[in-house]
Amino acid sequence: MTTQLPLPGFPGRGGPGTPPPPRIDGARELVDTYGRVARDLRVSLTDRCNLRCTYCMPAEGLEWLPTEASLTDEEVIRLITIAVTRLGIRQIRFTGGEPLLRKSLEKIIAATTALRTDEGQPVSTALTTNGLGLPRRLPGLQEAGLERVNISLDTLDRERYTRLTRRDRLPDVLAAIDAAVAAGMHPVKVNSVIMPGVNEADIVPLAEYCLDRGAQLRFIEQMPLGPRDKWRREDMVTADQILEQLRTAFVLSPAEEPRGAAPAALWEARGVDKQELHGSIGVIASVTRPFCGDCDRTRLTTDGAIRTCLFSRTETSLRELIRGGAGDAELAAIWAGAMWGKLPGHGIDDPGFLQPDRPMSAIGG
Ligand code: SAM
Ligand code: SF4
Repeated sequence: MTTQLPLPGFPGRGGPGTPPPPRIDGARELVDTYGRVARDLRVSLTDRCNLRCTYCMPAEGLEWLPTEASLTDEEVIRLITIAVTRLGIRQIRFTGGEPLLRKSLEKIIAATTALRTDEGQPVSTALTTNGLGLPRRLPGLQEAGLERVNISLDTLDRERYTRLTRRDRLPDVLAAIDAAVAAGMHPVKVNSVIMPGVNEADIVPLAEYCLDRGAQLRFIEQMPLGPRDKWRREDMVTADQILEQLRTAFVLSPAEEPRGAAPAALWEARGVDKQELHGSIGVIASVTRPFCGDCDRTRLTTDGAIRTCLFSRTETSLRELIRGGAGDAELAAIWAGAMWGKLPGHGIDDPGFLQPDRPMSAIGG
């Protein structure tokens, strides 16, 4: 069976009468018509979260996916196995919603790290998390083979953090960063989204905080993915404005490391007054300097849909195929078919740009 079932709340996902998804039988890689090859799979393990960041989720009213709509552990592991052993995926990032809310995260990671790529190499694994509860989970995650962690932190001011995430949990996140550094997960990356009139004052303090701990801070330009009234192209904080702020406290020089498909442009920073502070800082200019031409990502949502891009307006559900008894070769062929049609770019600057129907928390950041 190859039809896509509609789910409540997310129009544009296919429904009865939707033509079967295209397939490329025998594909060994996820190539698109622009010659890009996907090597990096983002797996969303839940659409739920214990924070409510204003740029990502509404305060209330977001409908969670019903449990039966989410992939089971076995289904997620099966799709990851297909991606790695048949479709050339070499790195996997677990995200959400908040992936630490998935109790079986360690089991899924252990199953992933046991796989070998088409080149016979281990799969590289990473986790993007808000950090809540991370210290307690770290030993188990490391034992499962997790290599890298990105922790999200947009401000060091407790009141601002509480307003921004709608929860008073700043100390827990700071403890998570310290725990990850102490556990030797080098480099621990810290993701920060800067919003106009909200946390511009945090740019330099966040940089100092991370450099002081040997963590790599990465500023991400805010994208139009959260609640619709929270983003305006005209007043978003751009990568250039972030760099300008950083230059008030640091001498910046472009890092020598080749960027490849990595979204962050890396800078070597050294404190102007605080010269003991030095290290690299990344800036991800997804909106003002899109890197779509180098994109090597494919995405799997919590409910088993393939998305070719964060901003896709369509997606290809594999869930009903799995549940209908499809074999690995068929699932791989449909995944490859979906990626073949990947659009050249996210189109945020196009006059007809429309935000995707799903919020960031449901797509997987
Ligand atoms: N809950 C985890 C976390 O916060 O790290 C993982 C999921 S979250 C959607 C992944 C990343 O997306 C976070 O670093 C978050 O700051 C970022 N993010 C969420 N909404 C965003 C937006 N509208 N623009 C840019 N980044 C966003
Ligand atoms: Fe939750 Fe992460 Fe979204 Fe914040 S950014 S609401 S922590 S999913």
